[in-house]
Amino acid sequence: MSNVPSIEGVDVAGKTVLVRADLNVPMENGRVTDTVRIDRFAPTATYLADQGARVVIISHFGRPKGVRNPSMTLEPVAKALAKSLGREVGFAEDCVGEVAEKAVWAMNDGDIVMLENLRFHPDETENSDAFALRFAVFSDIYVNDAFSCCHRAHASTVAVTKHLPSYAGLSLKKELDALDAVLGAPKRPIAALVGGAKVSSKITVLEALIPTMDAIIVGGGMANTFLLAQGFPIGGSLAEPDYVDTAKKIMDTAEKNDCEIVLPVDLVVAEAFAANAPNETVAVGQDPGKGMILDVGADSIQDLTNRLANLKTLLWNGPLGAFEMEPFGDGTFAVAKAAADLTKQGKLITVAGGGDTVAALNQAGVSDDFTYISTAGGAFLEWLEGKELPGVAALNEQN
Ligand code: AMP
Repeated sequence: MSNVPSIEGVDVAGKTVLVRADLNVPMENGRVTDTVRIDRFAPTATYLADQGARVVIISHFGRPKGVRNPSMTLEPVAKALAKSLGREVGFAEDCVGEVAEKAVWAMNDGDIVMLENLRFHPDETENSDAFALRFAVFSDIYVNDAFSCCHRAHASTVAVTKHLPSYAGLSLKKELDALDAVLGAPKRPIAALVGGAKVSSKITVLEALIPTMDAIIVGGGMANTFLLAQGFPIGGSLAEPDYVDTAKKIMDTAEKNDCEIVLPVDLVVAEAFAANAPNETVAVGQDPGKGMILDVGADSIQDLTNRLANLKTLLWNGPLGAFEMEPFGDGTFAVAKAAADLTKQGKLITVAGGGDTVAALNQAGVSDDFTYISTAGGAFLEWLEGKELPGVAALNEQN
């Protein structure tokens, strides 16, 4: 369990509670196209409003770089939140100053208001103390409910905590508890499946996981660099020859730490990096010619499925192949389904995170069957790296 102070049980009746959410949701033509983040945040807003708080929601949206940009307004998101909550959500066209203050002073207990995009002000990403103070003018309590923003020291995640009593919201607390349970006191054997495009972007993750993991399953384009390091041919596949030595070092360190590095045993090799490109399955060691490795083969799927059956915990970040293109998602989807089945049977704890991973698990249709899926990208990776997230550290300093 995380020690972060939780808002649950704190007397918020009649108080103005400033809540940092991550409502940076996918949007097309002014319409929200994916409500996962909104739906995950909804219980915190409902809880606070039901306790009689005046709920003032702040979030960033896109990268307006400190300038007001009408295409990045949060107004449509306020409407989508109102729909998800089944109650009214007001909207103020600025997050600080007279406009925000007027909107907040007009609230009654139990009301919910969303303020405009934080990043219309450059002070937000500069973690400005003066900017944070402008929130404190109209707020009594601060709640952070945005795990996915906690790796950034911004005014709305860090500076603000110096000026208001600060707590974790329901979804942040749930996320920290789920993640702490996995790495803090893992049920063994525990393995991490780390896939994705490049070794270079995940070296620190791999290095940080070695001491805790019993095995690390390497997949995706990353595995190609490991295969190259072992002297196997990889044809025209995506790989990073400059990181062959890094891959060797990771394998050495893993061996010293009794952490098995698991690589594919067979590979789906395609003629081109394109959906439905002609392809064949080759064993590792067999020359793929000019072909590109885009997925793991059937024997690898079987091998990984067998391994999952012997695990108690699986941590997952990154796909096993180029899953966005048919049929190169087959390996990722099959292993995801095997992990989901074991989870449903109560035999395996499965925690996954990262943008592409969430998309892949959604596509596999298993999102509801994993123990916990974090929608955070950068914050999830930094957590995997064992880094202290500034937004979480700021809450802990309140203790
Ligand atoms: P990452 O953001 O590092 O998790 O990488 C995810 C991306 O890696 C996805 O877009 C996949 O299509 C891509 N990927 C996975 N396996 C391969 C592969 N064998 N060759 C090329 N791209 C891959």
